[in-house]
Amino acid sequence: MPASTPRMVIRANACGCGTPKASRCSTACNASRCSADGWPCDRCVKSAGREHRTGNLNRNGLPRTRMKLMIDNRLAIGWPGALLFAIAYGILAAISLIYTQTNDGIAIIWPSSGVFVAGLLMLRPKPRTLLIALVAPISIGINLAFGASIGIACAFTVANLLEGFIAAKIACENRGCGRFDNPRWVMRFSGAALAAASTSAAIASVTTGHAGDIVFVLSWFTTVLLGILIVAPAIVTSLRIVAGEEPVAGGKGRIALVAGFCAVTIGLTFFQKEYPLLFLPLAGTVLATYMLGVTGALAMVFTIAAVGTFAVSAGTSPIAFVGDPIAEIYFFQFYLLTMFASALPLATLLAKSRGQMNEIARRKAQHVAAQTFAHVGHWRYCLRNRTSDWSDGMFHIYGLDPKRDRAMNLEHGSIISEDNEKVRQVLAKAVVQQEKFILKARIKRSDGAIRHVESLGDIEFEDGVPVAIFGVLKDVTEHVRAAKELERQKARAEQLAREAVLLAETDQLTHVANRRKLLARLGEEIARAERAGRDLAVMMIDVDHFKSVNDIHGHAVGDQVLCEIAALGERALRKGDLFGRLGGEEFLAILPETSGEVAAMIGERLRIACHELDWAALEGPRSISISLGVAVHQKGADETFLLQAADTALYQSKNEGRNRLTIAA
Ligand code: GH3
Ligand code: MG
Ligand code: MG
Repeated sequence: MPASTPRMVIRANACGCGTPKASRCSTACNASRCSADGWPCDRCVKSAGREHRTGNLNRNGLPRTRMKLMIDNRLAIGWPGALLFAIAYGILAAISLIYTQTNDGIAIIWPSSGVFVAGLLMLRPKPRTLLIALVAPISIGINLAFGASIGIACAFTVANLLEGFIAAKIACENRGCGRFDNPRWVMRFSGAALAAASTSAAIASVTTGHAGDIVFVLSWFTTVLLGILIVAPAIVTSLRIVAGEEPVAGGKGRIALVAGFCAVTIGLTFFQKEYPLLFLPLAGTVLATYMLGVTGALAMVFTIAAVGTFAVSAGTSPIAFVGDPIAEIYFFQFYLLTMFASALPLATLLAKSRGQMNEIARRKAQHVAAQTFAHVGHWRYCLRNRTSDWSDGMFHIYGLDPKRDRAMNLEHGSIISEDNEKVRQVLAKAVVQQEKFILKARIKRSDGAIRHVESLGDIEFEDGVPVAIFGVLKDVTEHVRAAKELERQKARAEQLAREAVLLAETDQLTHVANRRKLLARLGEEIARAERAGRDLAVMMIDVDHFKSVNDIHGHAVGDQVLCEIAALGERALRKGDLFGRLGGEEFLAILPETSGEVAAMIGERLRIACHELDWAALEGPRSISISLGVAVHQKGADETFLLQAADTALYQSKNEGRNRLTIAA
């Protein structure tokens, strides 16, 4: 079953992709691929060539340091690869034709179809074209050699080339081409094989006048289908394994065990005629699938096909019980199809589920690491059975070992007793009001350290009924410490600022307000008095004959006298008044909302207190007197005017003999 190959050319479009539809080509060649169609891009291969000339890549577009068999799921070896596939095609086609001539004209499987499809799947565009160009004359030549007319040889060759092209084209319409651990791609590949085998059978039968020959059509269809389904995956996966692209599950020991078991099941089944033990290879296939995944399944089905074909054709297999040779072949073909259809999907799903399990395990490990680094954990408290479930991060926050301490009772954790009630109330409120919550508490770690934690959480519901509390907990101790330190620093800075202001406004000797403070306050009080239309009085005080105190008793005694007078002045004033030292031995009292008479009364009290004070303790003068001048703010006047008036009144007191008070006129 071979034939002519006309001009079967896979056209390259403008982008250089080996696909006829330009729309499938992405404008930017990504990772030397043209979009998602799985056909490599010539332009990308060319650009890899340019890189090669610049010295970064080797002639296959790979980094110089590492020579690989594969590029992006495709064979890196170009025309030698195409040649090898073509030779394999020719040898297997010849063997198959010899077989058909010695076995009632019917083969069980057409392996050269699988080889051709594998080549189209694995080769890059140019070698792929070369393969097609080589297969066409080989196919015609072999058919002619086995007695076909030139017309028949050409028809068979067209059928064979078209079937390969259709299978590869349909199978490579998406990513994951050649990946038999991808369930979707396996489905697509199987569909592609069906379409290819049907088309091939139709072309071969119609062009050679066998359209009505059901045996011819059926045998062509089944042999091609099995050839593509069983041989192509075996070749593709083997090449991927050799290239290191396809990991084989399990070590050498496991492979040896499975291979041994499978060899026994196949041997027991096909090398005796007495017992129909055809279920035994199925057990081997299940074991190979389970232990070695997709690779095991494909290897087992391929081996059964190879050994079984040999045994059936040699007449040593138990299938002989079927009786009719053609029925034997149909039986065995159906057996192989069943084996393939049950093993590969199972293996693919198993591989996918194992991949997902690995992904889950990896994500969990990342999650645990992230929680540990961030001092974060999560917890869940089941309201039904009152049990807690903690993440590893929670154990780390509590200073516990997740493996060792998971069994302990975690219901209350180690929240310190002072915070327990607060936590209980927050959680109870969240459950009752069915709302999110934030709680802050302190916990006692296993090493006795007290840590601050913060938890954000929510209530879980089932059918509207709260069933659990879920929360994310973070150790915020460092944050709390930093906040406290910040607060302390802020208080200290404020204190220093207050002290600085006080210092700037305080007389250093007497510790009453200094001139700066007095004048500032006077300005404010005048403004207030103006606004409110209230009284404001000031009282200027000067120590009498103070120079002689210094001269007779010394400067230190003079200082003490000033301090005593300042103390007397502060005591004499009311709340809201301000007493301060203007400079030297002069003082000023600011008396808001005070009339001249009241001010005079206060000043008189101060004058008498000063005069009657027992100055003996100072070991200085026997008595000290002061003179005072009182002035009242006149509407519209400023502080200079007011001070001047008080000073004039004071001057008058001095002139009139001192130790007296004068109210400004
Ligand atoms: P009068 O009765 O006319 O006010 O006479 P007086 O001596 O008090 O006035 P005078 O202005 O002649 O002298 C003021 C003295 O006050 C002169 C200065 O040495 C003294 N004095 C000014 N500031 C201080 C101070 O801080 N400490 C001391 N011990 N003496 C001061
Ligand atoms: Mg004076
Ligand atoms: Mg004086």
